[in-house]
Amino acid sequence: MTATIIDGKKVSSELKAALAQEVQQLTEAGVRPGLAVILVGEDPASQVYVRNKEKTCIDLGMHSEVHRLPADTPQADLIALIEKLNASDAIHGILVQKPLPGQIDEKAVIGAIAVEKDVDGFHPISIGNLLIGDEGFVPCTPAGVIELLRAYDIPLEGKRAAIIGRSNIVGKPMAALLIRENATVTVCHSRTANLPEVTREADIVIAAIGRPNMVTAEYIKPGAVVIDVGINRLPSGKLAGDVDFESAKEVASAITPVPGGVGPMTIALLMKNTVESARKALASRQ
Ligand code: NDP
Repeated sequence: MTATIIDGKKVSSELKAALAQEVQQLTEAGVRPGLAVILVGEDPASQVYVRNKEKTCIDLGMHSEVHRLPADTPQADLIALIEKLNASDAIHGILVQKPLPGQIDEKAVIGAIAVEKDVDGFHPISIGNLLIGDEGFVPCTPAGVIELLRAYDIPLEGKRAAIIGRSNIVGKPMAALLIRENATVTVCHSRTANLPEVTREADIVIAAIGRPNMVTAEYIKPGAVVIDVGINRLPSGKLAGDVDFESAKEVASAITPVPGGVGPMTIALLMKNTVESARKALASRQ
């Protein structure tokens, strides 16, 4: 079987093209969508992520603000900046880049972001809204996975999905989203017994583990769809997913590559959330 390669670059480009048009309309109506990104310290990977977000904002015609703070910034100063951005009419989304330095309590910082500007979807109220089925922002990576599956017309209703990973930013919200799509969901983690046996039951396998090439063909039912969220830097400098792409693509019916699968969707969904927030800001003015 030759698996369909799910092209996240293409789907994210289409999404961004549609967003650019919406940004233009909103700007003409008086609200230019604006995203503020806060980076504390000089983590090299975070700097790359922040630059990508800034560039994407600018490419889409959005307003972009990047606040770079020194690594020894006191928590109170960071929260004071968030409160200023909460009150700013130019800003519709606020994102604090993780990881944060040790003196800062991540929960306190995320909790300080106004829920209506929580475009990362990590605020406890946003997560709660997702679980109870209310409207609100959804974390960008799992939301991006759903968009990818939709773009390829992969049915979810009545299907069995296995997620490997139960983090707050990927695994758990992914489970909530798949339940919302009427899939039957199994969430696996490091204590799951007989993992390959469990995942072999699934029509859709989503790997969000952080272990390069762990998910081999043995984990996959013939014809299943495989979504690889993992981004792992190998000692050689190359990127690898959590799925062993070469063996998995021989049994899967469709599979995402790394890079070029889920990765580009995450940033596109961040922009989508920010545009949606700007749309709501405009509606509340009218
Ligand atoms: P975490 O480290 O927070 O969570 C990893 C999860 O995998 C945990 O639930 C852990 O189980 C589980 N796990 C670890 N080892 C095993 C194992 N041997 N067998 C089964 N389960 C295991 O990672 P994240 O969720 O933050 O990220 C996961 C991956 O996705 C990483 O590679 C990350 O870089 C990538 N990522 C990609 C994004 C993108 O934009 N594409 C965005 C965010 C993350 P337990 O809970 O028991 O410890």
